[in-house]
Amino acid sequence: MPFWGGHTERLRHVQPVRSGAVEVGGTKVLCLVGSDPEHIVAQSRIPTGKPAETLAQVLAFFHQEVSCGGPLAAIGIASFGPLELRRSHPHYGFITVSPKPDWSFVDMVGPVRRALGVPVGFDTDVNAAALGEGRWGAARGLDTFVYLTVGTGIGAGAVVEGQVVHGLGHPEMGHLSVPRQPGDHFAGHCPFHSTCWEGMASGAAIAARWGCPAEQLDGATLRAAVQLEAGYLAAGLRNIIYAMAPQRIVIGGSVTGLPGLFPLVRAKLRDALAGYPGLAEHAADDFIVPPALGPLAGAAGALVLAHHAAGL
Ligand code: ZN
Repeated sequence: MPFWGGHTERLRHVQPVRSGAVEVGGTKVLCLVGSDPEHIVAQSRIPTGKPAETLAQVLAFFHQEVSCGGPLAAIGIASFGPLELRRSHPHYGFITVSPKPDWSFVDMVGPVRRALGVPVGFDTDVNAAALGEGRWGAARGLDTFVYLTVGTGIGAGAVVEGQVVHGLGHPEMGHLSVPRQPGDHFAGHCPFHSTCWEGMASGAAIAARWGCPAEQLDGATLRAAVQLEAGYLAAGLRNIIYAMAPQRIVIGGSVTGLPGLFPLVRAKLRDALAGYPGLAEHAADDFIVPPALGPLAGAAGALVLAHHAAGL
């Protein structure tokens, strides 16, 4: 071995691996290149337009980054769903029956893999956010936890014993049943189930119930809305806690900006559990927490998907 061989190996070892991440949202697509949330070397926000145009802009960003900065180990795509995640299915890598116009049965993985010639990881935005928070954020060091987002809709990703729960497709925890809260006569907003969790507690449900978006509520209406929201969130969290025994639940999304929501959810959760099974951890302030990665959770998770795809 040449005398410099060991040195070269050591450099290769410490050199961070550049991967690509794509978080596809309803209004924007966040693309980035980096190795972890502290080492992001390039990023771009692209408006979510028609699928072909949007994907073309995503590919153009990565072609540019590869030509300037060198090859990528892999790319991870975290997308709004529902998605086909069964690898043996002919539509693996597709968005399936999306309520978003033009985005049903759009192949997300195929065009990226063909254009860039790298392994591509693929999962839901919430599963990715769970992975990101588990690797670098609020669920670091835990092996069983849930990431919940409460925005326009409600979605959740679960990691159980270190693995993202997939099963037949992916969980749809936003459509859990929740008991109607006392004094609430809202008809519900889910097109499938009316009064499911998302139908009663999503940002869209809040806007429909109160006649304006959550961030525009004020005074007594705001206080009533926060009480009701905390009650519905606690009711849904109870279902998750009893079904999965998570060590922590991370809650992100625009609705969590409601003032005083977290302490109220924790208090109402204690009421909803009613002392069963009597775990002190469920009452601790670090059981229900906001994401540590903030709005970067999904994109960071897409980096984890890229790492998995590259076998890192
Ligand atoms: Zn529903």
